[in-house]
Parts: sequence; C-alpha cells; structure tokens
Amino acid sequence: MDVLKGRGAVVTGAASGIGKAIATAFVESGAGVLLCDLNAKALDAAACELGSRAIGRVTDVSDEAQVESAMRAARQAFGSLDIVVNCAGFGAIAPLTEISGDKWRSVQAVTLGGVFYGVKHGARQMLDQGRAGVIINISSVNGRQPGEGQAAYCAAKAGVDMITRCGALELGARGIRVVGIAPGLVETPLTRKELEDPAMRQLFFGIIPMGRAVAAEEIGAAAVFLASDHARSITGDTIAIDGGSLTRGYPALLTGVKKSS
Ligand code: NAD
Repeated sequence: MDVLKGRGAVVTGAASGIGKAIATAFVESGAGVLLCDLNAKALDAAACELGSRAIGRVTDVSDEAQVESAMRAARQAFGSLDIVVNCAGFGAIAPLTEISGDKWRSVQAVTLGGVFYGVKHGARQMLDQGRAGVIINISSVNGRQPGEGQAAYCAAKAGVDMITRCGALELGARGIRVVGIAPGLVETPLTRKELEDPAMRQLFFGIIPMGRAVAAEEIGAAAVFLASDHARSITGDTIAIDGGSLTRGYPALLTGVKKSS
C-alpha cells in the first residue's frame, strides 16, 4: 500500500538495523528517503538495495550543521520534507562509578543530541515549506526502565522521550506531530554480539513475556503507521514495541550472568 506516496523522508542511522528497516518500509510505502549514517560503506549498500527512491548521505548526527544540511537536502531532493526519523544511537555498558566523562559525552552527543538536532532542523524545514509533517524519535524501553550498567543510555533515552513531548507541545498548533517508538529487544548488529552469549540470550529472553525478540520489520511497520494520516491525532507519546518486557524488570547486564567466554 502506498500510504506514504509522494512524501519525502529523512532516516538517520539508516545503514543498519532498525533505521534500515524503517527506510525500507518507507520506500515500500511510496516515500522518497534520504538515508543518513556515519558508515559510508554500509550506507552505499543500503541505498543501492533500496533503489531509485533512496539516497545515501554520510551524516554525523552529533554535528548540528550536518543535520541541518541533510534536512535541507531531503527537501530539495523530494520537493518537501514530510517525515523525519531520528534513529541513530548507541549506549555504553559500564558501572555508573566507572563510566568516563568522554564515554558519557559521546552517548549524549549522538543518542540525545542527534535527536534534538533532528527535531529542531526537521521542524524548521517543515515550518519554512509551509507543509506540516511528522517526526519520529527512536527511544528504547530504557527511557523508562533503568538498566544496570546503562546509566548513560537510559539517561539519553529518557531525554529523547521528553524531547518528543516538548516537541509535540510546541509544534502541535502548527500541525507538526512528534512521536516516539520505544523498542524492546530487537536483534540487530547492535545487540547481536551480546546475544551470541547463550547465558546473555537466556537472560534477555527470560524477561520478555512473549519470549522472543522484536523483528526490525515490526518497528518499520509501526513507523509507517505513525508517519501516515491514520495516526493524525497521535502526538507526544512514545509507543513501546517490546513483547511485553516493560511489564518486568530489565536484565542485570553487569551481574545477571557469568558470561560463558
Ligand atoms: P545499529 O548499530 O544496527 O544501527 C545504528 C546505526 O547508527 C549504524 O548504522 C551506525 O553507523 C549509525 N550511527 C552511529 N553513530 C552515528 C552518528 N553519529 N551519526 C549517524 N549515524 C550514526 O543499531 P540498532 O539496533 O538498529 O539501533 C538503532 C536505534 O534503535 C538506536 O537509537 C538504539 O538505541 C535503538 N534501540 C535499539 C534496540 C535494539 O534492541 N536493537 C532496542 C531499543 C532501542
């Protein structure tokens, strides 16, 4: 179904995992997509795979000028900027008392700062073109659920949820929606290495009532819905897609298992 036909989109972190699945779902739904990522090689491969409605652009989301020019480039390429997905992000697993200032700053700069720049400059293009749109921020269950050894990531994702709410509040009167998706465990290059350890896998799966990971394609399908007119009254909220894991505690990544290797 071409529910996004004729729309122009930016997806950050689009060369891999969840971002790539969202970009794929958007192209399949009729949108043109500017794929932004730091990883030039993976970006080229993803853009080639997605065909003529996908354009790759090397972008560091922690650099405001690069984010601003990516938003402008998407508007020029597709005629309008209608959808922005701020997906690029990562965490760091270390005890709170050990995490270095540099590591803390790098997580905040990309996972929180990149989302702020994406909302700010995505909204500015939408206001300037006089055509409203939707901004989707990829959060995590860790925006609500503290995780042992994950202070930097949890703090960044809680910040993302609040940017979503503030954005919806400030921009709603001008027709711009700002929504979030909080995935639970999704098997992607980010999590695959952890999940190779059988004990870690068991620990993760044990806290998911549905007993399985979420597929990246499910996040893509949810993003299509949220970007479409079917979701025209949804703004400010962050929707969990997590197989029910928020009903339980988060696995203790530092002390919960003795790793097998
Ligand atoms: P991934 O590692 O597969 O993909 C992340 C992409 O972001 C990579 O292509 C990477 O090159 C890119 N990236 C990193 N730093 C960047 C920067 N400064 N500028 C531009 N691009 C940059 O990870 P993923 O699992 O697909 O995660 C995507 C998002 O989903 C992240 O925000 C993550 O926190 C969130 N998330 C993932 C899971 C999960 O279980 N995989 C769960 C909840 C939330």
